[in-house]
Amino acid sequence: MEILKSITELNLYLQKVESQSKIGFVPTMGALHKGHVSLIEIAKRNSDIVICSIFVNPIQFDNENDFETYPLTIKDDLNLLNRFGCDIVFMPSVPEMYPNGEVSNNYDFGGVENEMEGAFRKGHFNGVGTVVARFFNIIRPDFAFFGEKDFQQLQIVKKLVEIEKMSIKIIGCPICRENDGLAMSSRNRRLSSAMRQEAVLINQILNEVQKMFKNTTVDMIYKYVTTEFEKSALKLEYFSISNIKTLKPVDFIEEGEEYRAFIAAFADDVRLIDNIIL
Ligand code: AMP
Repeated sequence: MEILKSITELNLYLQKVESQSKIGFVPTMGALHKGHVSLIEIAKRNSDIVICSIFVNPIQFDNENDFETYPLTIKDDLNLLNRFGCDIVFMPSVPEMYPNGEVSNNYDFGGVENEMEGAFRKGHFNGVGTVVARFFNIIRPDFAFFGEKDFQQLQIVKKLVEIEKMSIKIIGCPICRENDGLAMSSRNRRLSSAMRQEAVLINQILNEVQKMFKNTTVDMIYKYVTTEFEKSALKLEYFSISNIKTLKPVDFIEEGEEYRAFIAAFADDVRLIDNIIL
């Protein structure tokens, strides 16, 4: 496995890659866990060369504390990537990624950017779009792999390649969970042991919502979720049953459309998100 830190080094490497080799790209912010490993494994099955980036992107954080406390575990990350057969780790510095300053592009993703994460984390998806476009232009991968854990981000990236007319196939990968159902996340390591136990509720509620969805009104489901969170130590930021194309919350279900339920909640100051297909 090679560790490259500059665009020049990466270009030199890419020049040597045979033209028919398919490049798979897995962007991450480090503090890697089995969820990230699953993306590497899917990338390996679908590509000849797997490039993983580790870059904590300052311009996608709306909250300074979240950025400053974001876990960094580089040594463990590199061991894990090596063990799972990643070919290249690209670890650029902030000035390498943003030589003209840390400024986001302004994107119109057709409204998807204004729902849920977009509504609660101002500027988040402009920051995500900017960094992903920059990586795609530097690496020019054939495939890029994103987790359904960040389902809205996955939809945004699919729109991004449409807007930028890039011929990169975006592949969504299933959510990896701990044994008790908690969605794996780099932020989980910041949970106190009491909050770690409490956090499992997010997935339990989503599972219940999935069952209720077949025979209960959307209104009743919203009431159920609100009540469950009121009884818990977690603070619900949003719950939404959304059409997967628009990500707009719905009041009623239409035949032939597909839906997902989404939750963002705080466990103390740790913000957790999860979602489930309905
Ligand atoms: P992050 O390092 O949190 O920016 O995540 C990098 C990539 O890993 C994104 O595409 C995430 O959606 C994905 N990812 C994070 N957690 C999980 C998980 N539990 N299961 C599957 N993919 C995940």
